[in-house]
Amino acid sequence: MESIVIKPSDAKSWLHCKRQVWLSNKGDLEAESEADPFLELILQLGLDHERNVLRRLSDQQLGQHGVKSAESVDETLKLMDQRVPIIYQAQLSNEAEGLVGRPDFLVLDDDGLYQAADAKLSKNKDKKEIQIQLGLYRRLLGNGKSAIVFLGDGSAASLGDEVDAMTEKYVADMRVLLSSDEQPSVKYSHSKCSGCSFYTHCKSGFDATEDLSLLYGVDGRSIGALGEHGINTISQLASADPETIPNVPYLKSSDKKARAVLQAKSHLTGEVFEMHPVELPQGDWVHFDIENNPLVSRGENHVYLWGFLVPDAGMDNGQFEYVWTDTFEDDEQGWHRFLEQVETYKARYPNLILAHYSNHELTTIKAYAQKYNMMGHATVRYLLDEGGPLFDIKKPVADSLVLPLLGYSLKDICKHPGLVNFQWEDEGSGSQWSVYQFNRFLSETNLEKKEALKHAILSYNRDDVTATHRLQRWLTEEFINN
Ligand code: SF4
Repeated sequence: MESIVIKPSDAKSWLHCKRQVWLSNKGDLEAESEADPFLELILQLGLDHERNVLRRLSDQQLGQHGVKSAESVDETLKLMDQRVPIIYQAQLSNEAEGLVGRPDFLVLDDDGLYQAADAKLSKNKDKKEIQIQLGLYRRLLGNGKSAIVFLGDGSAASLGDEVDAMTEKYVADMRVLLSSDEQPSVKYSHSKCSGCSFYTHCKSGFDATEDLSLLYGVDGRSIGALGEHGINTISQLASADPETIPNVPYLKSSDKKARAVLQAKSHLTGEVFEMHPVELPQGDWVHFDIENNPLVSRGENHVYLWGFLVPDAGMDNGQFEYVWTDTFEDDEQGWHRFLEQVETYKARYPNLILAHYSNHELTTIKAYAQKYNMMGHATVRYLLDEGGPLFDIKKPVADSLVLPLLGYSLKDICKHPGLVNFQWEDEGSGSQWSVYQFNRFLSETNLEKKEALKHAILSYNRDDVTATHRLQRWLTEEFINN
């Protein structure tokens, strides 16, 4: 019988999707996607953080002699026997239990016992994947000592008995999962699946069975109960009378049922349905989108670009305006310049509408106002007021329309040739692409190349605000003026 090996590094994938962890351990599929530069950037930053922690620990040991690297499980055991104060890149194994683990560090404490430790970019020690990983190291060491996590904000936290239950659940579930020769049955999730390296494999299966989880807005928890009432496929739901669909979990209101049936019809026919009249506020529209770097050292967030599109009178193109800051050191100055820019628009347009897609801009403004202790500032109050200028243009789309899409992101809607049909200049661009390019900008020393990177980031942001402008125009032409 094939032996099972359970690794802490699979915890993230296990939490994300059970099938993903099964396919990457048991499947014979090649991962479909090419190397993701954003993930490579995260890996690189993680390595840098780990090296910084190593340097700190070495300094505490008054030099490298107190730190030794391990190349194998046996070498780790040897170094532990020698009571080496810090063992770097340790390797632990428990063959009987089928567990292996590679903590970044083993740290000898004052009681003469080792503590496992990992360096993580996250600021949050309560992340489940961190708890499981560190919990497994604890289990492999078996000495009851807490594990240590060196977090991205420079702090250190310890994880003790409280992580054991979740770790046990992970081990028990992975044992069952990896013992099976059948890939686990799961639901489609657009946010998880669209970026997954097994997308083509899984999507063809969901399509073949007309899986209800392909439908936007149909909660996965409704699906089993719908099946008990004879609705197992998209075709069956499309031909159902919403009035006769029984109340099932997360599908109780008539509006939700009608929407689910229309979503099924739209999926099959490509038709667009207007469930409620589309309403847009009247006023002077300025389209707004931000780009932020969550990867600033010590866990800070830096909005490097506050972008605006001020449409011209003909509603065709518009003027792209922005506030940019080169580094996190200028973050507060950028925030103040953003507020000044808002004041400029407020003075210029008596009926200002600051349109953005989804709530990221609103939550970021709130977070910045709190970060800089400015909740009482007049411009902040104006922005956050209930009747203020911020307007989430996703709302009329999600409330009123049913679209032939798996997801309702700005890109999903705008790129669709039968809908807004607006194409970004750079096919591969996205918010993670922008963060990746900004981090290249930060480390680039050649001024010409640096300028080219900034130009590319600005173009991407200009396309984003142009997209919300085109969406506004499409909604107006198709549903309001029609
Ligand atoms: S495509 Fe979706 S269902 Fe398939 S492994 Fe990836 S996340 Fe899981």
